[in-house]
Amino acid sequence: MDKNQILKEFSSDPEKYYNVKLFQEQGFVRKSCSKCGRFFWTLDADRTLCPDDGIDTYSFIGEPPTTKRFDYTQAWKQVEEFFVKNNHTSVSRYPVVCRWRDDLYFTIASIVDFQRIMGSKVVFEFPANPLVVPQTCLRFKDLENVGVTGRHFSSFCMIGQHSVPNNQGYWKDECVDLDYRLLTDQFGIKKEEVVFVEDVWAGGGSFGPSLEYFVRGLELGNAVFTEFQGELGQHTTLDQRVIDMGAGLERFAWITMGTPTAYDCCFGPINEKLYNTIGIDSDSEVLRKYFTEIAKEIDHYDDLNEVRRLAIKNAGITDSQLTKMITPMEGMYLIADHLRTLIFAITDGALPSNVGGGYNLRMMLRRINATVSKLNLKLDIDDLIDSHIDYLKDTYPELDEKREDVKKILKIESARYEESKGHMKKKAEKIREKGTPTVDELITFYESDGITPEYLKEVDAISEVPSSFYSKLSDLHQSEKKKAITELPLEQLPETETLFYKDDPMEFEAKVIKVFDDQVVLDKTSFYARGGGQEPDHGSIAGFEVVNVDKHADIIVHKLKGGIPNEGDTVQCKVDVTRRSNITKNHTSTHIINTSARSVLGSWVWQHSAFKDDDHARLDITHHSSLNDEQVKQIEDAANKMIKDNYPVKIEYFDRGTAEQQYGFRIYQGGVVPVKSVRIVSIEDKDIEACGGTHVKKTGDIELIKITKTKRIQDGVVRLEFVSGPNAFEYVKEQEEESKKKEQQAIEKQQLEKQREENKDKAREKIPVFIEKILAGESLDSEEINSKGKLCFTSSDNYDDYFNQNFGKKLVAKDDSAAFCGIFEAGPTIRVMIFAGEKSGVNAGEIAKEIASILGGSGGGDTKFAQGGGKDTSKKDVAIQKAKSMILG
Ligand SMILES: [Zn+2]
Ligand SMILES: [Zn+2]
Repeated sequence: MDKNQILKEFSSDPEKYYNVKLFQEQGFVRKSCSKCGRFFWTLDADRTLCPDDGIDTYSFIGEPPTTKRFDYTQAWKQVEEFFVKNNHTSVSRYPVVCRWRDDLYFTIASIVDFQRIMGSKVVFEFPANPLVVPQTCLRFKDLENVGVTGRHFSSFCMIGQHSVPNNQGYWKDECVDLDYRLLTDQFGIKKEEVVFVEDVWAGGGSFGPSLEYFVRGLELGNAVFTEFQGELGQHTTLDQRVIDMGAGLERFAWITMGTPTAYDCCFGPINEKLYNTIGIDSDSEVLRKYFTEIAKEIDHYDDLNEVRRLAIKNAGITDSQLTKMITPMEGMYLIADHLRTLIFAITDGALPSNVGGGYNLRMMLRRINATVSKLNLKLDIDDLIDSHIDYLKDTYPELDEKREDVKKILKIESARYEESKGHMKKKAEKIREKGTPTVDELITFYESDGITPEYLKEVDAISEVPSSFYSKLSDLHQSEKKKAITELPLEQLPETETLFYKDDPMEFEAKVIKVFDDQVVLDKTSFYARGGGQEPDHGSIAGFEVVNVDKHADIIVHKLKGGIPNEGDTVQCKVDVTRRSNITKNHTSTHIINTSARSVLGSWVWQHSAFKDDDHARLDITHHSSLNDEQVKQIEDAANKMIKDNYPVKIEYFDRGTAEQQYGFRIYQGGVVPVKSVRIVSIEDKDIEACGGTHVKKTGDIELIKITKTKRIQDGVVRLEFVSGPNAFEYVKEQEEESKKKEQQAIEKQQLEKQREENKDKAREKIPVFIEKILAGESLDSEEINSKGKLCFTSSDNYDDYFNQNFGKKLVAKDDSAAFCGIFEAGPTIRVMIFAGEKSGVNAGEIAKEIASILGGSGGGDTKFAQGGGKDTSKKDVAIQKAKSMILG
C-alpha cells in the first residue's frame, strides 16, 4: 500500500480524519509547511514551517521548554502517574525477546506485546483497556547512529498508550486530548510549543490516520488510529479498531533536561562514571553546539559520516576537540547504550551467538569491546552493569534478579572475543591488502568470522563503517523463514475429534471418513499425531499397521501399511500401548530436564527444540558453552530428584492472555501457540509450559532418567540426549555390562603385562649364559633367539630395551665376528637395535635405516652400532622379516 497516497486522501478530508475535539476547543489552526507541504496543527498562527523544517528545531538543547526537570526514570513516573490518574492500567513491560511471535526475534514496538498471529491474521489481545506500558524495544537498524546522533538508541522505552474504543476504551478525541494534557499539564510544556503533524500508518493489511506530536522539532510521540482494512478506496472499517500511541520515553526526559544529547539524561549515574574515566566536562558549550548541529542535519542526509563532517565544520570543532572530546564521548555513549540493551536481552533469556537474534547481541558486545580498546579505556564492566541495573530496577525490578547472570554471560562472551583476536588480526591483514570491501563482504566477515567493521576500523583495515551495514545486517537477521506446507486432499473434511485430549482410550471404534493412497482420516482418533517434537503413535486400524500419524490443520491423517479400509467403514483401532507409554515418559522428561538444566546452569536456559521418540529423546537448550561431566551429573540428579518427589503433572486450559499474565512467557518453551485457549502443563511451580503433548500423571511414573550424551551442536545451543523409564533401566544395564567387560579386559591386560615384566627380569639374568651358548655355537631357538653362527636375531616380547642393549653390546665385545639385531616394542613405537662386530660382515646403520623406513620413522648410527624405529605397528611383521633376513641372510 502506498503511504503517500493514503496521506493525500486523508489530508484532503481533514475534518473527517484529523480534526479532533481538542483542536476545535483550543483553537488549533491547520497549516501547510511552506517548505515541504506537510499539514500540521498549531496554536501559533504565525508558524509557517513544519517541525522538521522549523527554525526552532532542537533549540531545547541548553534551553528546555519546561521548568521541571525529569531524567529517564522520573519521566516514566510522570507518564505513569498521568495515565493511571486518567483511568489507564499500567502494565509491566513484556520481554524484549518476542517469544509469542515466530516472525520476530525481538520486541520492536509496544503494540507487538498485544499482537498474536492466528493463521495469517494478526489479532489483538489486551490485558486491560485502556492501558499504558513502558515497553523496552530493541532495534538494530540504526546501530551506526547510536552514540553519534545524540538521540538514537539500540533499545529504548516506548511508552505505549493503547485503547480499543468500546465502553471502557476511547478513540481519537480523547487520545489526542490525553497526549496534549500529558505534555502541557503533567510536563508543563507551553501550549504553543506543541505541534501535531498529519501522517498515516499502514501495515499487515490495515491502515489509519496518525498524528505525530512535536515540541521544538523533537518528535515526542505518534498516535496511530488503526481503523481500516483492505485496499484504499475499497477499504472497510475494522471490527476491532485500535489506538497505538507510541512515544519515546528517552525524548520526554531529554526535552525537560535540555542536555546536549538524550544519552546524558537517560543512563543515570553511569554517565558520570564514564565522564570521569575519560576526563571530560559533560556540560561544555562545545558539546552543546556540536550535538545541536548534528540534530539539525541528521534528517537531511543519508550518510552519517557526511552529517558528522558537516556538524564539525558548523560547530567549529578543532581537530584536538574532535579527538579529545567528541570521539571519546561517542564511544562512551555507545558503551552505555549497548550495555543497557544487553542487560535487557540477557535478562529476558537471549544469548549472544552467531545464530538468529543472537547475532545482534554479539555484535553489540563486540562493538563495546572494540570501543574500549580503541579508546584505551580502563573499565570495569561489572561495575557498569551494576550502575545500570541500580538505576533501572525501580521501573524494571526483574533486571535486579538476573544481575549476576548478565555479568557471567558478558564475561564469557568477552573472553571469547579476546581469544578470537589473533585470528581476526590475520584476517584483517588480508582485507587491508585486498582493498576496501563491499557491504556484503563486511557482512560475510562478521557472519563467518565474527569480525565487526568497528574492529576493522580500529586496526585500520577500513577507513569508515559504511552507513548501510547495520540496516542490511539487521534485515538479514530480523525474522525466521516459515516452513512450506504440503497440500493434501482434505478440503471440506470436518475437524478430527482428538480423543487423546479426552478419555484417551487405547482401543476404540471410529468411522473412516476419507481414504487416499495409503492414508486414512477417521471421525475421531486416539492416535497422537506428530507435533511439538513428539513422534506419533503406532498401532493398528482395521487390522492394518499404523506407521505414521500427522496433523494437517484440524485433521489427523493416519498412514497405514499392508492394506486400507473403505470409506464409510466402522473400524477397530488399537494404539501401541508400550510405544505410547515410552514416548509419554520421554516427553514429560523433556520438561523435567529443561527445568533441571535451568536450575543448574542459569536463567538463560530455554528449550531450543526437542524430539521425543519411544527409545530415545533429545532436548536442545540455549547455553553458552559445552557441558562438563559434573554439570551433566547435576542435571541428571536434579531430574531424578523430581521423579523421586513424585509431583503431580497437572493439565489445565487457560485463555491465552490469562496464561501469559499468570505464568509469564516462560510457558512458550516449545514456541508460539497459535490458539486462543492454551493447554498448560504444570509440574507444581517447577515447570509450567504451554504444551500439546502426552504426559504422565505423576513424575514418579517415569522412574528413571539417564542422560546418555551431550554436545554443543551450534553456537549457543547444547543438545542433551537421554532415555527414560524402561529404556533408562536398559541403558543402565548395558552400561554396567559394558563396564564389567572393560574391567575384565583391564585385569587380563594387567596380568599379561605382569607376566611379560617377569619374563623380562628373568631374561636379564640369562644374558651371560646366552652369550656363552651363542659363542659355543649352540642353538637358542627355544629362547626365541635365532642364530646363524655368531649372528643372531630376536623379536621376542620377552626381551626389553635393557636386554637388547646389554646382550648385543656384551656379545660383540666378546667376539668381533659376532652381531646382534633385536626388534622390540617401547611404548607406542617399535624399535630396532643392531650391534655388529668389526669382522661380522654386518652393517648396523644400513639395517636401522631400512627397518625405520618400513616402520614410518627414522634411524641412524654407524656400521658398528645403530638404532631406529617408527610408530606404524601394522608394519611390525614386515619389519621383523626384513631385519631377520638382513642379518641372518
Ligand atoms: Zn516541512
Ligand atoms: Zn511438552
